[in-house]
Amino acid sequence: MKTIIIIGGGVGGIVTANELSNCLNREHKIILIEKNKEHTFAPSYLWLMNGDRKKKQISVPLKSLLKKNIEVVNAIVNEIVPAEQKIKADEKEYHYDFLVIALGADLAFEKIQGWDESAHTFYTFEGAAKLHETLKNFSGGKVALVISSMPYKCPGAPHEGAMLIEDFLKSKGIREKVEINLFTPEPQPLPVAGPELGNAVKSILDKKGIRFHPSMQLNSVDTKLKQLFFNGKDTYEYDLLIVIPPHQAPGVIRTSDLANANGWVDVNPASLQTKYENVFAIGDITSIPLPGRWIPDKPMMLPKAGVFSHLQADVVAKNIVKKIRGENADEKFCADGYCMLEAGEDLAGFAYGDFFGVPHPKVSLKKIGKKWHIGKVLFEKWWLSPFGFKKVFYKIFLQSGGKLTGIPIKL
Ligand SMILES: Cc1cc2nc3c(=O)[nH]c(=O)nc-3n(C[C@H](O)[C@H](O)[C@H](O)COP(=O)(O)OP(=O)(O)OC[C@H]3O[C@@H](n4cnc5c(N)ncnc54)[C@H](O)[C@@H]3O)c2cc1C
Repeated sequence: MKTIIIIGGGVGGIVTANELSNCLNREHKIILIEKNKEHTFAPSYLWLMNGDRKKKQISVPLKSLLKKNIEVVNAIVNEIVPAEQKIKADEKEYHYDFLVIALGADLAFEKIQGWDESAHTFYTFEGAAKLHETLKNFSGGKVALVISSMPYKCPGAPHEGAMLIEDFLKSKGIREKVEINLFTPEPQPLPVAGPELGNAVKSILDKKGIRFHPSMQLNSVDTKLKQLFFNGKDTYEYDLLIVIPPHQAPGVIRTSDLANANGWVDVNPASLQTKYENVFAIGDITSIPLPGRWIPDKPMMLPKAGVFSHLQADVVAKNIVKKIRGENADEKFCADGYCMLEAGEDLAGFAYGDFFGVPHPKVSLKKIGKKWHIGKVLFEKWWLSPFGFKKVFYKIFLQSGGKLTGIPIKL
């Protein structure tokens, strides 16, 4: 009998636990430890922000997404001791044979000099709902959407946010009274997806009159004077400030010996194994360099995105099962990712490709259309449906969606 502990019950944790439960017989124990009882679907925060969703439509009990034989512990993990194969959560000890770390990335607003509650974000559930109320009452002026630092999760999301805000203000009839600015420290939109895709996204932003400001590293903000200060650049004034806050690994990782110099967890890119043989890390918590790619003197990293957490979870779960059965654990993660990029007016683009491609990832953007938006909505419905309904939903909708678009959807 083996005990597998998964810490973090977000995208990666949920997929790992369910896949293990699908493959292992009941003598083995699967424990998932997560601090929140409710699961919220992050890609839908954008629709919460523009009023297309209510809070209760994108929040479900975590347990409803998991198979029944998974033991769910609602607690905060506060210590990881790989040398003794144990972790502590709410001061209780749990011993494991295999550990999967899926703790995601924390948001560190306090790292923005001058930040206070007047700055908005759609990167949290509550933040997106609050921003919606503000947008409803917004009467015009300068909107500044600022990517404060790298890395941040979902490289597409800030651009989608800008386009959905533009669409919302247009539907409110005040578009001509608004200037929308998107500031980023990056040299182009989504540099990780290569120059071709970056140019395509830039031209969509241009068409919508969204001003894109590359290579702008935020230094500080003065929320009283409503001014933004960037390293070596002009000062910008704003009326409404929206930030993508700095991201960092959760404290329990940063204080463990699993953390690299930046606080994230280094893994074998194929197996997701950490420096400990029976400890794996997946998703946003990991740091995976892209082969042969640099910005300009640092290695470029695999983006933090749910699609990769999902694929990695699948690989790790299958390899743990193989190890338990005494088989060769030969499943490998390949970074074939996709993203439906919401562009407003119920339209979306679709980027798909190999992020490990050299010298650039082989990622292309399909023409913006309704079907990609429908695809994103269907994925949301599938993800949030109770575990028992998932198979039926998958067969009817997602597989037929895959055939329709010619894109293999592997879940
Ligand atoms: C606005 C927005 C839009 C996005 N859109 C997309 C998209 O379209 N496509 C895409 O691929 N990705 C998207 N993402 C990114 C995606 O949500 C993340 O990359 C993904 O959730 C990462 O999965 P994960 O399992 O690594 O971490 P998470 O899903 O964040 O899960 C981590 C879990 O660990 C828990 N946790 C943390 N610390 C502790 C602790 N000490 N003890 C117990 N539990 C703890 C957290 O509560 C959380 O539930 C989006 C993100 C945002 C914010």
